[in-house]
Amino acid sequence: MRQSHLFTKTRREAPKDEVAKNAQLLIRAGFVHKEMAGVYSYLPLGLRTLTKIETIIREEMDGIGGQEIQMATLHPSEPWKKTGAWDNVVVLFKIQSRTEKEYALGQSEEEIVAPLVGDYALSYKDLPLSVYQIGQKYRDELRAKSGIMRGREFGMKDMYSFHIDQEDFDRFYAIAKEAYLRIFSRCGLTARVTEASGGAFTEKLSYEFMVLTDAGEDDILYCSDCTHCANVEVATQKEGDVCGKCSKGTLAIAKASEVGNVFDLGQKYPRELGYSYKDKDGNEQLPIMGCYGIGTTRLMGTIVETLSDDKGMIWPESVAPFTFHLISMSSNDAEAVAFADALYADLTKKGATVLYDDRDMRAGEKLNDSDLMGIPTRLIVGKETIKSGEVEVVSRASGEVKKMTREAVLAL
Ligand SMILES: [Zn+2]
Repeated sequence: MRQSHLFTKTRREAPKDEVAKNAQLLIRAGFVHKEMAGVYSYLPLGLRTLTKIETIIREEMDGIGGQEIQMATLHPSEPWKKTGAWDNVVVLFKIQSRTEKEYALGQSEEEIVAPLVGDYALSYKDLPLSVYQIGQKYRDELRAKSGIMRGREFGMKDMYSFHIDQEDFDRFYAIAKEAYLRIFSRCGLTARVTEASGGAFTEKLSYEFMVLTDAGEDDILYCSDCTHCANVEVATQKEGDVCGKCSKGTLAIAKASEVGNVFDLGQKYPRELGYSYKDKDGNEQLPIMGCYGIGTTRLMGTIVETLSDDKGMIWPESVAPFTFHLISMSSNDAEAVAFADALYADLTKKGATVLYDDRDMRAGEKLNDSDLMGIPTRLIVGKETIKSGEVEVVSRASGEVKKMTREAVLAL
């Protein structure tokens, strides 16, 4: 994409009321647009990154047998009243129509998915089964000061699984846990797993996937050796202790952000919403249900908080809006411009994703914008390139500079 065609512009300052680093950088770089506290629109660069995050999640969920669906986000109030969530979930957005009928906006979809699956999976032969979706969710937050990490409207992947017994849920949880850890690792993050109480959803156990970051809202004890960690508030061990899980590493305290969670919901929703299946002997049974969430926009915010410096963002290639940021430094030198134009055409033809800064602007401004946007590999073409035949290749992450011929760049 030619940057001269990009309708967004970088800004020197973020809005005064924006205190979160992730939103400050994303707004300044033109990735997102703030509509109000906790509500953001995704612009071309930001949407490219969000879509790449969603693609990674989709691949991993498909890989463990999840079937993608898209459920309604405007919900009838009846199932929410049946489970008690209408009154108990304080962040539930409730809407009244002009005929005074009541609706809810989805903040999680157990109330919708249990009856939906219950219309089809009526025999033990139909289970286990897992369905998931990626879409918008709503929470009536009192304060929304964490940028895209905690919004009133946000993106989420939510998967729901149904099993004939606890043993089968535990088997599937172990598989889902590995898929979750792969998702975070593919997004350039290292996640750890805590065991926590189930909160509003359930009396049973839940698992939280945490990424160490100073922007985190939780204090955790984490192991230097394995993926184990525990919330400081509920941990039975303390800093400096040997890890109880692997007996090898030692425990340290750090701030962390929750990027995913799994809830063992037991039979609560099938019981309250009337979903049963027939077992081998023809008896009606309630399935065991699990819920698996990853906030997609929250994950994007966590990547920015974790992978950024004082100049801007540092995207891992897997989720970067483009792989290459080609910068034409000498926009008044016809030969240099022709070289950059040709390199852009050849890289694009090869299938590489390139943001081509062809704007008529000072070189310093272009480099500042490039640092802010954080595209992994910068290709600099200027007067020097015409003399030496070499392109300057700069890594945004390490700052490493290499001189490479046009052919070598095309082989990257
Ligand atoms: Zn350990």
